[in-house]
Amino acid sequence: MTTTDRFKALLITKGDAGQQVAWTELTLSDLMPGDVTVAVSHSTINYKDGLAISGKSPVVRRFPMIPGIDFAGTVIASENADFKPGDAVVLNGWGVGETHMGGYAGMARVKGDWLIHRPEAIGAAQSMAIGTAGYTAMLAVLALEAQGVTPDKGPVLVTGASGGVGGIAVSVLSKLGYRVMASTGRLAEADYLRELGAHDVIDRAELAGTPKALGKERWAGAIDSVGSATLANVIAQTMYGGTIAACGLAQGMDLPASVAPFILRGVTLCGIDSVMAPKTKRIVAWNRLAVDLDPAKLALLTTTHPVEAVQDLAPKILGGHIRGRVVLTI
Ligand code: NDP
Repeated sequence: MTTTDRFKALLITKGDAGQQVAWTELTLSDLMPGDVTVAVSHSTINYKDGLAISGKSPVVRRFPMIPGIDFAGTVIASENADFKPGDAVVLNGWGVGETHMGGYAGMARVKGDWLIHRPEAIGAAQSMAIGTAGYTAMLAVLALEAQGVTPDKGPVLVTGASGGVGGIAVSVLSKLGYRVMASTGRLAEADYLRELGAHDVIDRAELAGTPKALGKERWAGAIDSVGSATLANVIAQTMYGGTIAACGLAQGMDLPASVAPFILRGVTLCGIDSVMAPKTKRIVAWNRLAVDLDPAKLALLTTTHPVEAVQDLAPKILGGHIRGRVVLTI
């Protein structure tokens, strides 16, 4: 690859007419500074990518921008001592696809400090089936474990279970021996959720009403990707000493909750951030995914499309119409 060779990229530009999104051809000199250049083989679509492409939320903060917060590929050039040409790498977050050119392109140039070596047990396509959503689900599992939520303590609830974070969370928790309760608005997906490892499937409408300060104690832990009234209801129904890992806002950014569960039941609310999580934590999470995520279940929750489909997929992920995870081939 020379500096004049062309590769395809999805480019978001902003002008008087607003945001435009179109496929174009770029060269390496169009990319932003970085010490490692990667030939991208796969990417994925996360909820945040849907927001970036649709322009519904100010996710993109530099124009022009190549969206795509995740990519997997092979190093083709490196000035970073930790990486050499031929290395298989994965990138999640760090503002890539938001402030730094992202993954929906044949090439990416980033800081080596942002990359991790892809674990040998995880293929490139599988790493994007996991993507930021799956790695976030693992961060949430690690948070529950750190708070002492073990399988013997009681069930663990996963909200937004038919989505990306939810599907990986259900699969990992079930492999670890937890009794998983899956909350979904798509009850037609109950069989799929049971195949992933859910023991009980509940209608998300049960958790959508006006939250009470305290409710019946139902779960020892929870992984919530929904936020808003749902998270408030989840907190109110957590068992004494239980923990909730909050990572998402699919329902809303507000939290209409009471302090009662915290001061009367010793409940803990853990915040999960994947974007700026330190590299050591990322490596722990990816190494755990290599062991604690059943590849057959990952395949069950994954669909594959060419990257050119991403503009059609963006409104679908925002509408909650994508089941599990999507791999995009570049
Ligand atoms: P998905 O769109 O794949 O899944 C979200 C799921 O939430 C949907 O499938 C749906 O599940 C449920 N849902 C959607 N709308 C509503 C609603 N109005 N009320 C209740 N439930 C709803 O997204 P991801 O799994 O990729 O991401 C989930 C959330 O986590 C997003 O908000 C995302 O921004 C956030 N996130 C945060 C990260 C972090 O670092 N903290 C990293 C990654 C994601 P069902 O149909 O089963 O009800």
